[in-house]
This record gives sequence, structure tokens and C-alpha cells, in this order.
Amino acid sequence: LPLSAGFLRAEGISRSFRGVKALAEVTLEIPRGRITGLIGPNGAGKSTLVNILSGYERPDIGSVAMNNVDITRQTAHQKSRSGVARTFQHGHLFRSLSVLENVQVSALANGSGRRQAQRTAVGILDRLDLLPWGGLSAGHLPHGVERRLGVARALATAPEYLLLDEPAAGLNDGEMENFRNTIHSISADLNIGVLLIDHNMRLIFAASDYIYVLAGGQNVLQGDPDVVRSDEKLATSYLGT
Ligand code: ADP
Ligand code: MG
Repeated sequence: LPLSAGFLRAEGISRSFRGVKALAEVTLEIPRGRITGLIGPNGAGKSTLVNILSGYERPDIGSVAMNNVDITRQTAHQKSRSGVARTFQHGHLFRSLSVLENVQVSALANGSGRRQAQRTAVGILDRLDLLPWGGLSAGHLPHGVERRLGVARALATAPEYLLLDEPAAGLNDGEMENFRNTIHSISADLNIGVLLIDHNMRLIFAASDYIYVLAGGQNVLQGDPDVVRSDEKLATSYLGT
């Protein structure tokens, strides 16, 4: 069977907070089965864009479309049901539940029955090499394991698109390499469109099929990794000029 195509697309998005423009006419496209990198200095508007794509914020202007269907007005819960999943920069785990229970809860919240949620959770833990951690409390996990659990919880909603906001912050080199392999297999094997935000340029340039650069709430550069790497606008966007 051919993998189904499709895009999650933000089109002409503007958003202000009390007069401060966080995003100005930003456009970005996340194709299924690919990793799309999103980089830019602090305050560039990356997290605001993820919040809008996932329904946690509304744009002032612009639209969000999934597979050519307008989903701009959907709530976060509706977008999750539609197939847009995200992770959070800071945890959002149930620290008193086990690793397995955290993933089950996520599947249940998205409409799976108990037995299906159990099966789904075990399959996802297996894929993310988390089975050995399944029975342990989520409150005291090593960084690398905690980040994989965040991704596991997002995967439990059976997404077509997965938005990762700085998922690799604080990982050591080994954990980073492991994480890169994980997201590669998610995009390629599960045909999920991944948006990857990170400050680690080595990770972004190694992992991404296509890269967007935001600065000051605007699109400043986009293209294949080799094109973006060698464009002088990459450096100047980080210098604030
Ligand atoms: P990034 O993730 O690229 O660092 P953000 O999207 O977090 O950037 O922030 C973009 C701009 O919007 C910043 O100036 C930030 O202070 C502002 N901003 C983001 N969210 C809010 C909010 N809820 N209230 C007020 N200002 C916000
Ligand atoms: Mg951010």
C-alpha cells in the first residue's frame, strides 16, 4: 500500500500578546512521513506556533489546515482527536503513575477502550525501548527516558502529526543519538509528520528533511538542510540583525 500523503499547514499566522507581535504572517508546512526542523533564537515565536498548531492558542489572523481540511477553530482536544499530537517543553507527566500507566491514560483520554489502551501502550513502550521502565514511577526517570515517555504519551493518541518542542534539551550525546533514531523511525515507519524544534544544530541538521528558520516572529529562511546551513541568513537571524 502507498503511504498516505498529507500536510499539516499553518498559513499566514499572526498572533500578538498585549500588543507584542509574537508571530507575523508565518507559513509552515509539515508533510507526513518526514521530519521538519524549526529553529530560531529565543522569542522567535516557535512555541507560539506549536501552541496554535495544536489548539492551545488561537491565531489573530491565518489558518491551520490538516490534509486540506481547515481545523483553525478546533480546540486542543479536538485537534488531538483529529490527529495532531504534541509534547511539552516541561514534562506534563503524571509523576505518581507508572511509565506504562502514563501511556495508557493518554490512549484512554483519546477514546480507546481499556484493553485497546493496554495493547497500544505496550506496543509503544516496545517501539521506544521503554518496556524495561514500564512499571517504574514516572516521577524519577533519567532525562533521556523522561523525554521518550513524553513522545510515547503523544504517540498513544495515534497521531498523523507530532509536534516536538525542544524534546532533546538536556540530553547527553548517547541519549541524543538514541532520540534521533527514535524520531526517525516514528516518521518513516509510522508515516507521521514530525515537527522538531531544538537549539542543538547538530541534531536539527542531522535529523531534518527540511528546515524552517523563524526570527522575530517571521519566516526568514527555509529549505533543505544543506541549503539552510550555507545561507548567511542563518547566522544573522541569531545575531538579531
Ligand atoms: P520561542 O519558543 O521561539 O522562544 P515564544 O513563542 O515562546 O518563542 O515567544 C514569542 C514571543 O511571544 C516572546 O516575545 C514571548 O515573550 C511572547 N509570548 C509568548 N507567549 C506569551 C503569552 N502567553 N503572553 C505574553 N507573551 C507571550
Ligand atoms: Mg519555545
